[in-house]
Amino acid sequence: MASKRDYYEILEIDKSSSAEEIKRSYRKLAVKYHPDKNPGDSSAEEKFKELGEAYDVLSEPEKKAAYDRFGHAAFAQGGGGGRGATHDPFDIFKDVFGGGGGGGENIFEQFFGGGGGARKEERNRGEDRRYDLTISLEEAAHGCEKEIEVSKTERCGACDGVGGEPGSKVVVCRDCGGRGQVLRARGFFQVAQNCARCRGSGQITDKPCKRCSGEGRAIAPSRIKLRIPAGIEDGSRLRSSGQGEAGVRGGPPGDLYVVIQVKEHAVFERDGSNLFCELPIPFTTAALGGEVMVPTLEGKAQIKVAAGTQSGTVFKLRGKGMPEFNTSVFGDLLVRVIVEVPMRLDAEQKNKLIEFAASMGEDNSPMHKSFLEKARDFFS
Ligand SMILES: [Zn+2]
Ligand SMILES: [Zn+2]
Repeated sequence: MASKRDYYEILEIDKSSSAEEIKRSYRKLAVKYHPDKNPGDSSAEEKFKELGEAYDVLSEPEKKAAYDRFGHAAFAQGGGGGRGATHDPFDIFKDVFGGGGGGGENIFEQFFGGGGGARKEERNRGEDRRYDLTISLEEAAHGCEKEIEVSKTERCGACDGVGGEPGSKVVVCRDCGGRGQVLRARGFFQVAQNCARCRGSGQITDKPCKRCSGEGRAIAPSRIKLRIPAGIEDGSRLRSSGQGEAGVRGGPPGDLYVVIQVKEHAVFERDGSNLFCELPIPFTTAALGGEVMVPTLEGKAQIKVAAGTQSGTVFKLRGKGMPEFNTSVFGDLLVRVIVEVPMRLDAEQKNKLIEFAASMGEDNSPMHKSFLEKARDFFS
């Protein structure tokens, strides 16, 4: 089909036009392009047809809403104009929501990721489930196995998922006419929702199973084993295929999505595969130099602090960070030293420090000295 002109353009109106304006513009243009007035003019005839098609859609609120959302694609299977006005809102939505049967793509599935035709199987597929799982930083670093308990629907054991008592038949759901969807008004919009009676499958059993009320599935707690890969990031989503809700009446199950939350750690802060930590050291160690212990995810390590180390100095421990997801590459651990000054001194310690201060002189505090020079104007 050649590219279709915009319906608003054809009717020479815009989206804000009222129903009255649409009607008025249609009448004016219909008179102008009417075949009786333009005998033998095929372009006028084409325009007249186009006009009728555009008016057919924009004069009906439901069709107009579908057109505003999906454009011409909302009516792609309809085969163009000439359809008389109909007051069954399902008629126009059937292409959109896949109730029309037959192959071909439909918009609803494109938007909601179904793919393919609206086969019974797809409609009976169980819903996807989300599960939030919190793990520790150590677990994220090493990877772990977790067993979670999810209360979700499982295939009904009494009817083996069929949904009916022995000898029952599957019939079309009368609440939705087999479409699986019903339209509900929400403000100005019509919203399609899964039919409550058949749960979106379009079918029900005439003698429903007593245990599962005909759905072929019932809620049961189930334990699921998960393997969390090493290096997983906070907020990652893992898919466990087929572990979502059971399908309706034997349909395929949905998937389980596990959203990982990595707990804050008491010592380490994480940025991708790198870890950070702050390490307080005594001011004497900073001045004299020495060896200090640093915690790592694997236990501990030792770092050599040179004499005269300043507060804020960062030591890099290569490869002591987190593994990068799905690789054997490790990030680094960055240790930031904080020089700690004693809070309490006894008389003897105090005297020694006074003595020390007197002996030190300004040249031994180069940063302090250069700061004073820069800030001289403020002190004068
Ligand atoms: Zn059952
Ligand atoms: Zn139904």
